Amino acid sequence: MPERFREDDFHAFIRSHASALGPHVLQGPGDDLAVMDFHGHALLMGVDQVIEGVHFLPGTAPEAIGRKAVTRNISDVAAMACRPVATLASCVLPMDVSPAFAQRLVDAVRRTAQQFNAPLVGGDTALHRSQGPLTLSVTVLAEPLSPTRPPVLRSTAKADDRLFVTGLLGGSLRPDGSGRHLDFEPRVDEAEALATTLGESLHAMMDLSDGLAQDAARMALASGLQAVIDAAALPCSPGCGWRNAMGDGEDYELLLAVGGGRAVPSHVGRGRTPTRAIGLMRAMPKPDAPRVICMLNDIEIAVEHLGRFNDGQVDGA
Ligand SMILES: [Mg+2]
Repeated sequence: MPERFREDDFHAFIRSHASALGPHVLQGPGDDLAVMDFHGHALLMGVDQVIEGVHFLPGTAPEAIGRKAVTRNISDVAAMACRPVATLASCVLPMDVSPAFAQRLVDAVRRTAQQFNAPLVGGDTALHRSQGPLTLSVTVLAEPLSPTRPPVLRSTAKADDRLFVTGLLGGSLRPDGSGRHLDFEPRVDEAEALATTLGESLHAMMDLSDGLAQDAARMALASGLQAVIDAAALPCSPGCGWRNAMGDGEDYELLLAVGGGRAVPSHVGRGRTPTRAIGLMRAMPKPDAPRVICMLNDIEIAVEHLGRFNDGQVDGA
């Protein structure tokens, strides 16, 4: 058993029982959402939670908690260039929570879900019997943008694809718990614009939740490749450097692999969100090579230790 049982371990466990998944599972665990064949139509689904002390600090407003619980799921829908359809929510509340706080929390979930055209269609609540953190889990259902535009996976990047990111990276989660991680805009609109503009040249995409170092490594691993990132090209948030961009996490921006020399618009979506070329995918130079390397002044820097899983910060994005 691993020292800590993480999301990737859970997914590997499910895949180890792949024969139980049946013929309707088109894409099992390991991508941003699972994909099911539902009577001839693709239905996507995912689940993600926020936990007090892990994804937000005590004292955070219930409106911000409810919003983040929904938006981090909507970000996974954007990651696959799909459209959200519906949400469900399940929360475990502290034993001493006030009804007014709980009401504000679930209303934030409902309003945020509605904002992204994914109405809250059901849910459940429970109270801790002893001291325990607020935990709010949201399930999202989604559909492809059209029958001719299937979900964009993270496992289909190709050698020589160029890598791009949207927005700015780093500094999303400040030490006091505040920051962009509470009020980021999921890149649904940007993902649709990219999928429409790039068509089949958009080989792979995912959202960035655990830091570029970790997430680019995941895309590279899933695609059987190595990601090479140019540190000087990273679009860093104000006050941040390339290490923050690689390792801070909670950015909820898009990472995309684009093939065929296809031009990528410098700004996408209604919000004119910037895109930036940051590197490329290439064949693994040797079987035990790292899945992601970072180049700075022609020097190869190991970055696999960066990211939310490995730097001692809070876990679980
Ligand atoms: Mg994701």
